[in-house]
Amino acid sequence: MTSIEREPEDGPTALVRAVGAAVDRSAVPVLLVRADGRVVRANPAARHRLGDVAVSADRAWTLELPGRAGPQDSPTIVRAGGTWFGRAELVQSTGERVPVSTSAFAVHDRDEDPLIVATLRTPELTLDPPCGVADEVQAVLRASRDADERHDLLAELSRLALRGRMADLLAASADTVAYLLGARLATISRVHADPTTIETVATTDGGDSALTRGSDTVPAFVGTTGTPLLWRGETLDHRIDAESLRNAGFENAVAVPIEGGGRPWGVLAVFGVDVGRSTDGPAAAVSGSDAVPEPSILDEVADIVGAAVHRVGVERELRYRSLRDPLTGLPNRALAHDRIGSAVERGLVAGSCTAVMLIDLDDFKSINDGLGHEAGDTALVAVATRLARASRPGDTVARLGGDEFVVVCENLRDEDDAVAAAAVYGDAVRAPVSVEGNDLVITASIGVAITTTDVPVNELVRRADVAMYRAKETGRGHVALFDRDDRDHRRLQLALSADLRAALESRYLTLAYQPIFDIGTGRITAVEALARWEHPTLGSVSPETFVAIAERTGQIDRLGLWALHSACRQAAEWQAIADVGVRVNVSALQLRRPGFVSAVARVLAETGLPVGRLGLEITETVWLADTAQVRDALTELHRMGVSILLDDLGSGHSSVTYLNRYPVIEAFKIDQSYIQAMPGKRPEAIVSAIVSLAHAFDVTVVGEGVETQAQFDRLRDSGCDLAQGFWLAEPTDAATMTDMLRERRAG
Ligand code: C2E
Ligand code: MG
Ligand code: MG
Repeated sequence: MTSIEREPEDGPTALVRAVGAAVDRSAVPVLLVRADGRVVRANPAARHRLGDVAVSADRAWTLELPGRAGPQDSPTIVRAGGTWFGRAELVQSTGERVPVSTSAFAVHDRDEDPLIVATLRTPELTLDPPCGVADEVQAVLRASRDADERHDLLAELSRLALRGRMADLLAASADTVAYLLGARLATISRVHADPTTIETVATTDGGDSALTRGSDTVPAFVGTTGTPLLWRGETLDHRIDAESLRNAGFENAVAVPIEGGGRPWGVLAVFGVDVGRSTDGPAAAVSGSDAVPEPSILDEVADIVGAAVHRVGVERELRYRSLRDPLTGLPNRALAHDRIGSAVERGLVAGSCTAVMLIDLDDFKSINDGLGHEAGDTALVAVATRLARASRPGDTVARLGGDEFVVVCENLRDEDDAVAAAAVYGDAVRAPVSVEGNDLVITASIGVAITTTDVPVNELVRRADVAMYRAKETGRGHVALFDRDDRDHRRLQLALSADLRAALESRYLTLAYQPIFDIGTGRITAVEALARWEHPTLGSVSPETFVAIAERTGQIDRLGLWALHSACRQAAEWQAIADVGVRVNVSALQLRRPGFVSAVARVLAETGLPVGRLGLEITETVWLADTAQVRDALTELHRMGVSILLDDLGSGHSSVTYLNRYPVIEAFKIDQSYIQAMPGKRPEAIVSAIVSLAHAFDVTVVGEGVETQAQFDRLRDSGCDLAQGFWLAEPTDAATMTDMLRERRAG
């Protein structure tokens, strides 16, 4: 091997290998020379020639060109750019000099120093055109450079497809194919379905619409048929508007569909491909060449864009899912908070009032527990649809989770405006919803918080929440606006909730007992157990308050079971001294627990109280939870022999209709408000009506809250069976009650 075949130091570079492979086949002697003159390779023809002038195995050659000042300086050829002809000298390390006539040109590669391709000429060949080798070398070089460049550019596109913005990728893709194929124009068009329309989303025309005129027909064809298109400039091509393309100066066009998630997402098209420039598929195709080099740049880029479309689609789907409530399709909590934030910001700028309305369905649990979660879901979807339909343009209706929705309203004038808007949403919820054949009336309690200042989103939601709880306390289907008192109220409730837990654990709760008298005989037929809580700092807390807290904080089961157990144990003791029953108040929530009936049975067994002595007082609101669960529980309790009493009759919704459906109710307790309104024509008429109705159904009637003799008399006149009230006996502790029962037996 001669020394000039070897590239000193670092071995042949990619460029040297590529060019060397090309020149090796040439019959013309060619040297590959570095810019400093170092000869790094000679083709067989050159070696043969130089062998003629004595080649030594260990001697390096340098090509000395005229005008070279020093070894670091680039020779004329490198700077010149084109082909250089002239005389040069090959200098051996021994000092021997061989004059040669050369034609040379420099090839550049991004990553390495320029390489000079020097063709050695014998004096007789000097006049020959040097183009043969040069063209061959140029073609090989271009191919190798194109392959590298193409690889790099496609890698860059793939990177964009994985991480970049879609718009950047589309622009880069169009630029890349136009560049790699030497096309005058590249476009990416989006195919929209129903009806099919084509929208150019990226183009290399640089805003020159004259260039793109008529080009639309190419993506239109590909987009509608889903097949690639190759046009070689024929004047007659029914698929496209060939005339416009020709008028725009295009001689050919190639387009391929871009698949995105299984269907044509768009079209990648190139126009006016330089057929001489590339050996790529489309270029080869438009030039009519038989060679089919694969893969085609167009296909590759279309695949890359397709992958990005897929990725973006997946991302959008994920984003959509992460911001949407899957059940109702409404914005979820995250999106709702986002919307509240921007609404408040807009309100600040516009100087208008923004409202956050927290909508909580009343007693929704009963639907879930009673009819099952599927029914609950159906109801939630129905409510979501109604809320969305009731919304004004610009309002956001979102689901926070469970039975909680939020509405964000902008551009309100004032509080009244906000409350009026909330009432519209409340009305929207109220219409009966048909769920599994049950017509359910759902109501919502709505808390409204408004702001005209920069209140943090969380704080605004919290205020709406506080107002919502107050709305709930006022009754079902109410709207409440957050005010300053709410803040203190909320704090108190929170404190009480923790204290109640402690009280339940350490049994600081007690039961008070209030007797119920037979109006005709004056006998005590039963005793009602009423929970009492003496709070260490606040004093006595009303059961209405702490029962509501227990219900809301999941403590009602423990509270209820404790009351039931204590009352039954006490009543079991009383059986020895009196023929008396016990009445225990039961929360609607307890009744809906699947294990409630068995819990009652267990308590009866544990305390030894005869089942006929126990009565459960259920407030009217339970009936709104008119569910299979409630129905079954009541029927089963009735079958066991437990009395069911409907408490506070008349205080809420009319439950009389339920008498037909529930032939298990043993007694009505007329709400205190009617008794206390007596004497008076209207209340007396109402009480009489309730009594007659109840008797028609064989139901006993209790008048509670009797505070005066007059009230007692009127009650007796109405035909009422039993009476309870401060005038007869106030609630008292167990010991006092025991004494009372003992005295009466004695007396
Ligand atoms: P309720 O079941 O309707 O009980 C009757 C309420 O009226 C009791 O109030 C009683 O003290 C009061 N009352 C009795 N006679 C008169 C009277 O002549 N005049 C007036 N103004 N009031 C009278 P209390 O003890 O404050 O209980 C309020 C409510 O709290 C009860 O109404 C009941 O719904 C609920 N409650 C009490 N204890 C329990 C319990 O252990 N569990 C459940 N779930 N609720 C309970
Ligand atoms: Mg009661
Ligand atoms: Mg009552």
